[in-house]
Amino acid sequence: MPEIKLEHVTKRWGKFYGVDDLSMVIEDNAFVTLLGPSGCGKTTTLRMIAGLETPTEGRISIGGNVVFDSSMGINVPANKRKVGFLFQNYALWPNMTVYQNISFGLSNIKEEMASYSEIGRRNKRLLEILKNPSLLEGLTKFEKKDEEKKVLITLTETYGISMDSAKKLLSVLTKDNPEELLSSEIEEERKKAAEKGLSFDDDFNFTKDGKIEKTVRKLTKDEIDLSVRKVSKLVRIGMFMDRYPAELSGGQQQRVAIARTLAPEPSVLFMDEPLSNLDAKLRLDMRYELQRLHFETGGTFVYVTHDQMEAMTLATKICLMSNALLKQYAPPLEVYKRPTNIFAADFVGNPSINFIDAKGKEENGEVKVKIFSSLDACFTPEEPVSIKEWRDERDKAENEEKVLAEKKKNEKGYVEKSNKDEMFKYRIDLVNQIDDSLEKVREITDEDFILGVRPENVVIGEEGDIDGEIYGAMPTGMESTIKVRIGDFLLTSVVFGSISYPIGKKVKVSFPGKSTMLFDRKSGKLITLGSLKF
Ligand code: ATP
Repeated sequence: MPEIKLEHVTKRWGKFYGVDDLSMVIEDNAFVTLLGPSGCGKTTTLRMIAGLETPTEGRISIGGNVVFDSSMGINVPANKRKVGFLFQNYALWPNMTVYQNISFGLSNIKEEMASYSEIGRRNKRLLEILKNPSLLEGLTKFEKKDEEKKVLITLTETYGISMDSAKKLLSVLTKDNPEELLSSEIEEERKKAAEKGLSFDDDFNFTKDGKIEKTVRKLTKDEIDLSVRKVSKLVRIGMFMDRYPAELSGGQQQRVAIARTLAPEPSVLFMDEPLSNLDAKLRLDMRYELQRLHFETGGTFVYVTHDQMEAMTLATKICLMSNALLKQYAPPLEVYKRPTNIFAADFVGNPSINFIDAKGKEENGEVKVKIFSSLDACFTPEEPVSIKEWRDERDKAENEEKVLAEKKKNEKGYVEKSNKDEMFKYRIDLVNQIDDSLEKVREITDEDFILGVRPENVVIGEEGDIDGEIYGAMPTGMESTIKVRIGDFLLTSVVFGSISYPIGKKVKVSFPGKSTMLFDRKSGKLITLGSLKF
């Protein structure tokens, strides 16, 4: 299964950048979710990889083949990229049955393929199945047609055979010596081939002088049926094959759409919010289905969503975007535990992370800061880090970026970005929320930090470091979300189990562990994780 590589991919309309200089590698067999707020460029990214949108600049390769390169003028059309799509509006054909909906695309495939003996291949498989006759005992008498149909579907799913093969299997079971019958049919096939100077390989492909004969052909009815049966088993719709879309529930229709997309076995599957039409419960069920599908097909999946829960639970890696830019590309738990910037820290996690303004200096490997206006605290990095050196690196990188940006400006065809990159405005939760616009613009110095604490790391109890007061408590059964007040500041805490605190109760608050995040206020970037003591 192929790897997908994006190098400096940009898409702009006039001065508006939909995707700005995106570079990343989607590894073979990855399940990557493109996540970010509305309008950040997720769909555009997906459409460019799929070939439905032409990038303004850059290079895209799928499985080592360049499918787009602006400088070389390469642009492989979508239908030649061997990729599958599944979009939010999946629209099944209403006048076709489920079976026809899934098989339609397959019947249009025409490629160079090996030609083979249908009877030979089928009979070989049936002979293998007959070696274990106990499973087939008593399968020949049916009271009703319906019963026979169920048995046939079970046979196709159990043995991975086509419907015609299943029918043949049932019919030979009534004969005295099925093996002999099947073998003699194979011999017939061999004779016919020999008359044309051909033989067979183990898989009943026609061969001449030891080489497989290839012709440009369509898929056979049996091959199509086999593919349809395989994918319908995967999404569990084998029993609905003869129904029309209007006779299915929304979730079942969605599964048909997934089966239709998977049937041609795309090695890469693109999905754009495919579950957004479904209710919450079905959405969750389908998430499991997709996870299983990814596991069973071994494909490379790219999935657009703005639902961070969906992105977290499905992905092997999240590509988090904001305003056309890549903000972090890492496994979900890494984005959660070690976000590289305050945007990523804020976007991922529900309830949201607590941000705390901190002002202070590095002293002997620790950072002595003031938080909550007047409280002294000491941040100890999990591993020794020199904040000065970190800042030097930051400045060096920023300068390099500036130089590069200047250079770009002078290049031919340069277009200034109208949707400028702005620093993410993080929110500090206060009892009396101050209107941002009224806040005096204060110069940010190298003494300004932001601490990030996930709600599960805000511990409330009888004992602790800081005096607090319960501002609100919401037990939901499995967990409780609590707002605790420290001076004018509000922090969110999540505890496992049902805890009902009375509003106004005096409590103690602490931040145990080493997972408090220390961000640089100037750049909004993560410096390190560490512990906070008072
Ligand atoms: P959503 O979650 O709302 O679907 P998204 O992250 O998928 O958002 P995109 O559809 O990729 O966003 O769009 C990125 C930006 O590009 C948006 O601001 C959008 O308005 C803009 N855009 C998309 N298509 C065009 C177009 N054809 N012409 C001009 N601007 C466009």
